[in-house]
Order: sequence, then structure tokens, then C-alpha cells
Amino acid sequence: MLASRYSRCGQTKPLRKLVTSRSEGLASELPETEALMIDLFELGSEFFEGLTAIDLSIVEQAARQPCSECGGRLYRGDYPRKPRGGQIAGAAEGWVRRFSLCCGSEGCRRRATPPSVRFLGRRVYVGAVVIMAAAVALTSMAASAAVRATGVPSRTTRRWLRWWRGSFTTSRPFVELSARMVPPPERRWLPTSLLERFAAGRSAAVLKLLSWLAPISTTSCLQGWSFVRAAM
Ligand SMILES: [Zn+2]
Repeated sequence: MLASRYSRCGQTKPLRKLVTSRSEGLASELPETEALMIDLFELGSEFFEGLTAIDLSIVEQAARQPCSECGGRLYRGDYPRKPRGGQIAGAAEGWVRRFSLCCGSEGCRRRATPPSVRFLGRRVYVGAVVIMAAAVALTSMAASAAVRATGVPSRTTRRWLRWWRGSFTTSRPFVELSARMVPPPERRWLPTSLLERFAAGRSAAVLKLLSWLAPISTTSCLQGWSFVRAAM
């Protein structure tokens, strides 16, 4: 339905534009699906190792702060995760721990979970997949082809697209980003309309968007924004 609305409006396809501008001609000569596949494979294991390093830096900074409740010392208290990466982020399925902290004071034990560029809240799929699979679902390729390319059921990507266009647009990251961009990113093409603005390379753009999303991945760490900025 989206695809047909797309072509009816006769607009440029944001993802195609992104792929074409990056690969300078190569991708533009390929059928859309192939170009897209090349693009998805760009997120190699180094990309995911980089995200782990950023999360480690964030949790180390957060651990140097006192407990926000009692001023006590914070200790690592990670919790287990069983994330899914679909076809896009197989390497991320090894992320079995969400880095977290716990206050050491008796009677407090408050948990402080710092922001993450790997996990987007409680979602089973990792953040990079929530971005990429939604972007793929926005292309004109058939839903079945999108599912094959990403490994994410279309019911799930439809839910994510509702989030991108819905509550995400009232979040602090979107409000701040919109204020900086002229014209503001098109809401109905989120997250692609943001990726396009960030960088020439797909992985750099995904990383940047993950860093903007990181603070909304938790509600228990108030200084999250500064830790993410310092870790990038
Ligand atoms: Zn405490």
C-alpha cells in the first residue's frame, strides 16, 4: 500500500537516492533489490564491534557517577538479553548482556541502566535492525522481498513504522533534530528521511541515528546524553 502511494505521488525514493549517492553510479545501474542487498551487507562485524565499544565507554562513564538516589557507589550489574538481528545484524545476536549498573548501598540498590547504541529499549531486535528494516520496508520492493532481505516479519516492521511516524516524532531526539534541519525531515519517510541527512555512507548514518536514539533507550540514567556524546 505504501509502495503504491509512493509511486502515485511520483516522488524520489529516499533509499534509492541514498544508495545511489553513496556508490556513485554502481548501485544505480543495479536493480533496486540488488543495490539494497549490497547496502545491507555493508554493516559488517566491525560495525557491531564498534557499537559494543561505544556502549562500554558509556557504561564506564556512568559508573563514575554516584547513585542518583543516595549518592552511593555504582557497580556493574548487567542483565541478560537474547537479541535478534535478522538478516541484517547476525553479529549482534552475540550481545547477550545489556550493560547496567546497580547501587551498592544496603537498602538502596537502585538500578541505573545507561543509554545504549545497541539496544533500543526492550525491543527484541537490536536498534540497527529497527532502523534498517524499517528503511527497507519503505522502499517500493514487495513486502515478501523486504522480509527475505531483512529477516524481519512485515507485521513487526509495520509496527516500527507506526512508532517512527508516531511517538518517535514527539521524542526529544526528533524534536531536536527537526529544529536543526531545514527543511525538517519528512515524517512519513522516517527513518529514511533522517538517514539521508546524516552522512554519505550508510553505516555512518545508521551509527549517527543510533547515537541520537540511545538516550531514549533508558529512563533510569538522567545524564545519558552527555555520556553518549563523549563516547562517540
Ligand atoms: Zn543508591
